[in-house]
Amino acid sequence: MSENIQRQEYLVNRVERETNNGHRGVVVWFTGLSGAGKSTIAAAVEQELTKRGLHTYSLDGDNIRFGLCQDLGFSANDRAENIRRIGEVAALMLDAGLIVLSAFISPARAHRDAVRKRLPEGCFIEVHVATSLEACEARDVKGLYAKARAGEIKGFTGIDDPYEAPENAELCIDTAGKTVDACVQEVIRLLETRNIIPFQLR
Ligand code: ADP
Repeated sequence: MSENIQRQEYLVNRVERETNNGHRGVVVWFTGLSGAGKSTIAAAVEQELTKRGLHTYSLDGDNIRFGLCQDLGFSANDRAENIRRIGEVAALMLDAGLIVLSAFISPARAHRDAVRKRLPEGCFIEVHVATSLEACEARDVKGLYAKARAGEIKGFTGIDDPYEAPENAELCIDTAGKTVDACVQEVIRLLETRNIIPFQLR
């Protein structure tokens, strides 16, 4: 980092932006195995929040890897840098007053905890999409488990690379035998009970 940089103070802060938006900002961080349902639930939560007139943005693993992180692979260092960059982008979006829906496998507890620490207290809501490996592999939405089992992908989370489950996630959802809508409602209820979004009867 250059020695010749200084922080620029803005004249508008997050709380003022949130006041204009009419709701708080927060980062909802979905973590879990590939195929657990992170992207599906995050997308549907964003749709529900948007219907309610709230301000949102989605950060999704694959999309970020097409752009911001296209230079990164899946080595331990690259995974760490991937999550660090996403944490920085999420921090900016949070500062803009948005409800950020982030869907990343983010297998390392330390990397997720670093993002939590990077954000203001209470602004990181970790949602563990705790679908079992067996259920994820049975879905095999992208055919990646079959490739990993065949040895065509090395270092695949859950197969030959570890997934460290959160110990103190704000919410834990096992999607097996549940509808997407039921999972979405669990997230929405959490945001309501934490006074991040206004209560709405369904
Ligand atoms: P991830 O983002 O965790 O890799 P995806 O959202 O891409 O996972 O894929 C999850 C798959 O599981 C989708 O095909 C989705 O339709 C299916 N699925 C079945 N039940 C649920 C549920 N209750 N919640 C989320 N996804 C579900």
